[in-house]
Amino acid sequence: MALLEPSALLAFPPVGSAPFGVFWTLVGLFVGSFLNVCIHRFPLEDQSIFKPVRSHCPGCERQLEWVENIPVLSWLYQRGKCRGCKMGIHWRYPLVEILGAAAFYLAWYMAPAEDLGILLIHSTVLSGLIVATFVDFDRYEIPDQVSIGGMWAAPVASALVPALHASGPVALAMAGGGSVDWVAALAECAAGMALGGGFLYGVGWIGTRIYKAEAMGFGDVKLIAAGGGFIGTQGVVGALIIAVVVASIFGVLNILRFYHVVRTRQRRRRLGNRGIPEAIRTARAVGRYLPFGPYLALGIGIVLLDWKDVLTLLPFGH
Ligand SMILES: [Zn+2]
Repeated sequence: MALLEPSALLAFPPVGSAPFGVFWTLVGLFVGSFLNVCIHRFPLEDQSIFKPVRSHCPGCERQLEWVENIPVLSWLYQRGKCRGCKMGIHWRYPLVEILGAAAFYLAWYMAPAEDLGILLIHSTVLSGLIVATFVDFDRYEIPDQVSIGGMWAAPVASALVPALHASGPVALAMAGGGSVDWVAALAECAAGMALGGGFLYGVGWIGTRIYKAEAMGFGDVKLIAAGGGFIGTQGVVGALIIAVVVASIFGVLNILRFYHVVRTRQRRRRLGNRGIPEAIRTARAVGRYLPFGPYLALGIGIVLLDWKDVLTLLPFGH
């Protein structure tokens, strides 16, 4: 209600106030719509976020009207179908819109009060992580628009908003007891990028020599380098630990899932226990192919929002 009062319109609610939080969450909802466009178009060679300007239904090529572009509500109202050709619209679309709203809400909730710079940077980084996650799940690749874009954006953001690295060890050492200025923040940013990117590049290099096949996608290296530029050296260590722990849990679950699938098929063929070694082999071979990007994105996102609290939960925190 406060948003509708004339006094509230004249003086926009302060960043730390609840009305601003509501406003920012709604902005996130519409940004989520835009993220859907990015997820769909970034991997396509012949399309960009500006080309075409208006969205089309891939089924009937019809240009979408504004009533079909209202986040979540359009999808619910149309019961997940195109209004023209009745082609199904994937539930991922409203999900990404809700995630956009959730990311903006969390960025607002966790940001230091009144710090619009941090809020903008955190909201933007979380948006990029959502895009990277869904493209990686779809295509086993991370779009350069996010990873390389992030590697360019991180130093700019660090120099403009040094508070981003106010607790970074490198920045604090550079500041020598004073407050973190743009030079110290840039140093933390560069060190975070080098540490994150360098570590995963090293892991990939060793893995390639052991397995004689590409063990780590270069997209992952670029993503953690970009993330390291925003969360700094200490943050990037935390993000990598979270990513490895969560990816390992899901990796094991994924192998068990394939084992179950193969065993069910074998039982139908009445293969009995003779099939177990084959099931284990198949599950290990197929279950291994999991994208790592979504877990990196999760680690970066958690650390970005509240790294102090998260790091105390980790074995090597502090
Ligand atoms: Zn259609």
